[in-house]
Amino acid sequence: MSKARELHQGAVVIDGHCDTILSVMTRDSWFGLSARDFFQRNEQGHIDLPRLKEGGVTCQVMALYIEPQYKPAASARRCLEMLDAFYNLLDQSEEFVMATKTQHILDAKADGKVAGLLSIEGGEAIEGSLSVLRNFYRLGVRAMGLTWNQRNDLADGVGEKSAKSGLTDLGVSVVKEMEKLGMLVDVSHLSESSFWGVNEVAERPYIASHSNARALASHRRNLTDKQIEALASKGGVIGVVFCPPFVDDDRQNVTLSRICDHIDHIRKVAGIDHVGLGSDFDGFGVSPGSPQVMKDVSEMPKLTEELFRRGYTEEEIKKVLGGNWLRVYREVLG
Ligand SMILES: [Zn+2]
Repeated sequence: MSKARELHQGAVVIDGHCDTILSVMTRDSWFGLSARDFFQRNEQGHIDLPRLKEGGVTCQVMALYIEPQYKPAASARRCLEMLDAFYNLLDQSEEFVMATKTQHILDAKADGKVAGLLSIEGGEAIEGSLSVLRNFYRLGVRAMGLTWNQRNDLADGVGEKSAKSGLTDLGVSVVKEMEKLGMLVDVSHLSESSFWGVNEVAERPYIASHSNARALASHRRNLTDKQIEALASKGGVIGVVFCPPFVDDDRQNVTLSRICDHIDHIRKVAGIDHVGLGSDFDGFGVSPGSPQVMKDVSEMPKLTEELFRRGYTEEEIKKVLGGNWLRVYREVLG
């Protein structure tokens, strides 16, 4: 086995974002397939348990993404249905376990299992209620993105180009309550003004679970160097995202090497301690034959090989693969 492969196998690997729960629940909206069997190796889509193991992933963060048709009135119900789907997966295999604190991830590594960590994508899910937020925490949710692309009652999403609003008063209360509970505030889909709202209120590290560097790809979901610096100064982590438009403005340049350019850039701007992985697997489709970062999660070791080739030290690679997420989890989740 190559040195890079060996390093990958020994490392705690954490992917900070995927949409796989939707793929196991419903007809796949990207690939047009029927609901995926999570425990079989599939050729389509990005993630299932066999491919997570092939890719050497220790912990996969799983988004509870509230689709627009459920917003706002059925958001909490939809989030509970997605939680049910996640718990159903746990019931079907001993090999897949829930992580609600750091030790669970380390245990999964030691036992050769894969851990799932739950994150809500779209604060509509709490339907404006801190009690509902606390109950999602009790059910195991450990992170929440305050918005998806639209505005909601907490903040503006990145799709709100003109409003330039920050957090609402309720949004401020939610950030404070999340920090009190030990939940990660995720800024990945926030508008720039709401990002700065979180930065002002946050007393603990916050995260961008799946965003790249705007300096390398101009997509609105990517972070400016100023944002990267601010997030890092609070101790947070940015998970680099494999969704093609976030990787490069020119689709022909969407490659594994280009993703490593984003890692290089974030390291240059903020330091090696603030970059991790946030693939967004199963949250985007790629037409057959188009350039992509990797085919699916089973190819994750290729990323380690590329970082190795670029001269990253073993310690640095381990930080990118999962060490930085672990540090923030230890600090915020316990
Ligand atoms: Zn997303």
